[in-house]
Amino acid sequence: MMLKRVHPQTIQTIRKRAEEIISELQINTLPVKIEDVAKKMGLRLTPFAFDDNISGVLVIEEGQGTIGYNQNESRVRRRFTIAHECGHYCLHKDQASMFMDKGLKALFRSTHSGLTEDTQVLEREANTFAAYVLMPDHLLKKEIDKIDFDLGSEDDIKNLARTFDVSSQAMYYRILNSGLLRF
Ligand SMILES: [Zn+2]
Repeated sequence: MMLKRVHPQTIQTIRKRAEEIISELQINTLPVKIEDVAKKMGLRLTPFAFDDNISGVLVIEEGQGTIGYNQNESRVRRRFTIAHECGHYCLHKDQASMFMDKGLKALFRSTHSGLTEDTQVLEREANTFAAYVLMPDHLLKKEIDKIDFDLGSEDDIKNLARTFDVSSQAMYYRILNSGLLRF
């Protein structure tokens, strides 16, 4: 993949892009219907029987974006993949015409082995976008306020993850980075 020069975007910028989409689509119920988000962004969705280590791809041809996602992965993984590819489309469609994602389970590591620094920046940005689209701030805050939330409680994390239909790991990191907790 040929990349143009990458200018890292701030978390605030990415969060704003994600929140604009969420508010445009008037998403107020959980879990966020990520397939609808992708379609409303003008993207096509196609399930593929990729081999195990490919989670998803985004291909942009003549302005039309198509997301392929690995149908063999679990639902929460497929949801995250679709959200991640939406992130590439929203943030990076001028950078490249194809993105291929392998092993998104390494998603919160700051370094992905074998990837260039520029590619790592893009992957992190797409993951940040995915986290804010699947777990929008206003809805997360509402759910956290409903319960006496305890970051140390596996059950609390699991329940919230179930409500948002994301992995417990994704929920844990989202909350940790949210600034929503008072210590
Ligand atoms: Zn990616």
